[in-house]
Amino acid sequence: MHEPNWPKCQHAGCIGRVANDRKCLAHLPEDARKAFLAALGNGSTRALLQGTTLSPELLASILASVPRTDDDRPDLRYADFDQATFTGDTSFSRVHFTGDTVFQDATFQSKVTFQEAQFDSDAFFNAAVFEKQASFTGARFSGVAWMHYARFLGEATFHDVHCADDANFPGAGLAKNANFGGVDFSGEAWLGEVVVGGMLALFQASFARPVLIQGIVRQLACYRTEFRLKRLAQ
Ligand SMILES: [Zn+2]
Repeated sequence: MHEPNWPKCQHAGCIGRVANDRKCLAHLPEDARKAFLAALGNGSTRALLQGTTLSPELLASILASVPRTDDDRPDLRYADFDQATFTGDTSFSRVHFTGDTVFQDATFQSKVTFQEAQFDSDAFFNAAVFEKQASFTGARFSGVAWMHYARFLGEATFHDVHCADDANFPGAGLAKNANFGGVDFSGEAWLGEVVVGGMLALFQASFARPVLIQGIVRQLACYRTEFRLKRLAQ
């Protein structure tokens, strides 16, 4: 984890990025927090929430404040949650992430879901720690999914994930079962030096480009898994 390279909150021991008046969003007084959320809503500021501690309630108020897409999803633009800590059960379900999105070194202390989330550019989860269950069921990645050295301590579900670009999991640790059932990966899938403590399930998974699985995997299950090397249009 790198030294925070953002202006830090003045609250003792807090590494949250200053949102306003020398405080991070979590430590701002109510009025200032509302002003920040309003600025998120009108697009005059971005969700730069590095190092910030986000409760489910605070995250819900962020998602309720940001603009909506045409299909009525919260639209988080160029969000940065580098080293953020998510306390409690966290939901990014159906959220649309515009631009590169950073969850690098973030900690999810409880369950988290990215069910049916859409990432329209690269998504950086490198070295993120998922302390409980993590679900990406039905998520869509238009850019690269970066999961280098991510640690999943609970069940990890990538069921039905579509990835238009590469999916990079080198060095990832998945302590329990890792469900990649029904995934559709159009780019390369790199699972090098991974450790999977339970079953790596690839049921009905579809891979269009080379796949590398290398590491310690307790159990590998393939059923109707498709490795179809597509010739890409020149
Ligand atoms: Zn703070």
